Amino acid sequence: MIPYLNIKKINQPYQEAFLSKTKLFFDKGHYILGDEVLKFEQEFAAYCKVSHCIGVGNGLDALLLIFKAYIELGALQPGDEVIVPANTYIACILAIQNAGLTPKLVDTNFLNYNLTIDVLQQQVTQNTKAVLMVHLYGQITDALAIQTFCKDFGLLLIEDAAQAHGAVANDRKAGAIGNAAGFSFYPGKNLGCLGDGGAITTNNAQLADCVRSLRNYGSELKYHNIYKGINSRLDELQAAFLRLKLPDLDFDNKKRQGIAKRYLTEIVNPLIVLPFVNDFSAHVFHVFPVRVEHRAEFQQYLMDHNIQTLIHYPIPPHKQQAMSELNDLRFPISELVHKQIVSIPLNPSLTVDEQDFIIEKMNGF
Ligand SMILES: *Cc1c(COP(=O)(O)O)cnc(C)c1O
Repeated sequence: MIPYLNIKKINQPYQEAFLSKTKLFFDKGHYILGDEVLKFEQEFAAYCKVSHCIGVGNGLDALLLIFKAYIELGALQPGDEVIVPANTYIACILAIQNAGLTPKLVDTNFLNYNLTIDVLQQQVTQNTKAVLMVHLYGQITDALAIQTFCKDFGLLLIEDAAQAHGAVANDRKAGAIGNAAGFSFYPGKNLGCLGDGGAITTNNAQLADCVRSLRNYGSELKYHNIYKGINSRLDELQAAFLRLKLPDLDFDNKKRQGIAKRYLTEIVNPLIVLPFVNDFSAHVFHVFPVRVEHRAEFQQYLMDHNIQTLIHYPIPPHKQQAMSELNDLRFPISELVHKQIVSIPLNPSLTVDEQDFIIEKMNGF
């Protein structure tokens, strides 16, 4: 069986070092916002080439806290409109709504499944105050054009970089493209910890200070609350684990890109639409999505050959029961993508034999 993702195998090499760190942790007895979080924040900021990183509890809170902070700082007002791609994970919509802002969903395209500059130009209105670009599946697209557009129109540009740790577009890492970015370190992500974790990156010192306070009950000094914050701190043990893994992230991403190059050249089957990639450094292949008309049949065929696949995602956010206010909206391309997309195994722990086997079976469908 080739599982979609063998997370045990990916984390195994770090086990011993982590256990020694855990022992030190017991000796120290400092559990919340200690040295490990502080050091990880410095190291991840340096990695992304930004001046500030703030560790938080998860990827959803990372996005939520960015929006909340912009409201506290007066850069956004409650109810302001934020453009967000319809083809995304529901966290994006929840973060916007839970901050008291209004999501304006826009359709995607068949080339990279992300937000394009054309759609942005068509959909922007006088009410638009911010854009949430999502580097879905690990790919940064139209970065320069979207950056320039947002600057010219005075819009805040926020990145959802939860799937794109280490991707580079025009010499800027994911996390350094917009005014601020949210990351997730959920175990399955390209940089994943042993539970929940997230971070915000930015070059804006004021925003960083505000987020740092908001993640910790809105206080800078203990028991002095400046804002109505939340409790969403990156856990000390998770930060310790992330510090062990971060030095290998680029190597792991290169492995992912190498496997993707093989898939893109060696999978030749008119029934399978491969992802479009024009710049390999801008894509870290968090997932390798293909489109197939008869998806259920395709998944069953692969399962019969012991290859596990997943769907990212089966139901678009605007069609979810929880989003009844959005249920009447129509996004034909996103809806078709959700019907046809399927992710095949691609991760750094995949052996050459497994890659060969996957390619062979893909061509045999
Ligand atoms: C994983 C993910 C999130 C949410 O991260 P959590 O840590 O699970 O809250 C947000 N956006 C995208 C695109 C994701 O893939």
